[in-house]
Amino acid sequence: MAIQAPKGTRDLLPDQIYKWHFVEGKFRAMCESYGFHEIRTPLFEHTELFQRGVGDTTDIVQKEMYSFQDHGGRDITLKPEGTSPAVRAFTEHKLFAEMQPTKMYYETPCFRYEKPQAGRLREFHQFGIEVFGAPDMTADAQVICFAQDFLDEMGIRNVSLEINSVGCPNCRSSYRKALQDYFRPHYDELCDTCKSRFERNPMRLLDCKSEEDQKLAKDAPSILDYLCDDCRTAFEDLQKDLDAMGIAYTVNPRIVRGLDYYTKTAFEFVSTGIGAQSTVCGGGRYDHLIEEIGGPEVPGVGFGLGIERLLLLMEENGAEIPEPPAPDVFVATLGENSRLAGLALLRKLRRAGLRADMDDLQRRMKGQLKLAARLGSRFTVVIGDDEVEKGVVQLKDMTAHEQHEVPMDRLVEELANDLR
Ligand code: ATP
Ligand code: MG
Repeated sequence: MAIQAPKGTRDLLPDQIYKWHFVEGKFRAMCESYGFHEIRTPLFEHTELFQRGVGDTTDIVQKEMYSFQDHGGRDITLKPEGTSPAVRAFTEHKLFAEMQPTKMYYETPCFRYEKPQAGRLREFHQFGIEVFGAPDMTADAQVICFAQDFLDEMGIRNVSLEINSVGCPNCRSSYRKALQDYFRPHYDELCDTCKSRFERNPMRLLDCKSEEDQKLAKDAPSILDYLCDDCRTAFEDLQKDLDAMGIAYTVNPRIVRGLDYYTKTAFEFVSTGIGAQSTVCGGGRYDHLIEEIGGPEVPGVGFGLGIERLLLLMEENGAEIPEPPAPDVFVATLGENSRLAGLALLRKLRRAGLRADMDDLQRRMKGQLKLAARLGSRFTVVIGDDEVEKGVVQLKDMTAHEQHEVPMDRLVEELANDLR
């Protein structure tokens, strides 16, 4: 049998790629206009970066990473997310020594060994933004605002913003204990994954995808009752800023996020549309991540947005994505002399900035015109031996079904006029 793509990966074929180019173009443009600049980091990093950054007790590090030893015996992992590498680069290149904040964005493939289904792949892609060096909630509010504005611009209506505070290491320890006390009598009812989360990461129990566990989690204690004064004030500040910008949200104390490094703000944009994979964008604040991986004491806040889920949602919302433009002009030729003249003309048209094409398979005239129609070319230029001799071409308007003769050296000008 022919070799197939690995499970959980997807090819993006040329006839679909315009959708990606569209969202990528919009995302980049928005980043630049909101003052973010791109960072590109390697596809793989030292495994230790994610163990320390994402956190040893998370599902990602425990069971989802693509890790291997290279030929030099180094422990390497394919990026499962974009924040830790951005933080590593920020620290390594001492960007913290410049005037803060540092505002960066990225687009990256991510690799996680998961059970593939709609909106859940083993290789998927994320857009992300990060703000480093801004301790106040105004940065969090603006990161959230960016995500909302981007989803709006992409034509997505059926998502809602849910926010929470996951506190800081201080308030979290008493909350973890309260959670364990709550779940302990139900321990035997928990799914196997949650049984293993019970000790190492009880907050993740709130985020389980299994229905029974979700039912149990409904009456669990709320983190909001355990926040220290600093975290409580910060959460109030965040809501004030969001209100001021007119951004609607719901407070959901069960939003905990899968990565260990979050502090204070956690948020998700959730849809009811794309099945169980309902979170299109998630993010929050990570005040200790940079120190955790050996950098200075600098806070950060950002989000990751799944591009495959974004495109699923856009489809569901009937968002319009403009199809790529057809050729402006197709050059059709009859006989060897005219083929040579056609080649020279094709080059001239392309260098003049027109989208121009020609048949590469030496088909008969009928086949060439069929190809021109198939490509949706706006004009076709027909050259035969007579035309070569007279230095003219027949210019066919494929929509008006009209044809007239044009001197070869006036063709570019005439087409440029007609296409305007
Ligand atoms: P989930 O709870 O759905 O597993 P997560 O909390 O693991 O998501 P994050 O690590 O916050 O997700 O990643 C940010 C975004 O990346 C998600 O909101 C989602 O849109 C996308 N994403 C995460 N995992 C996958 C995946 N396996 N396939 C496709 N997209 C994904
Ligand atoms: Mg996940």
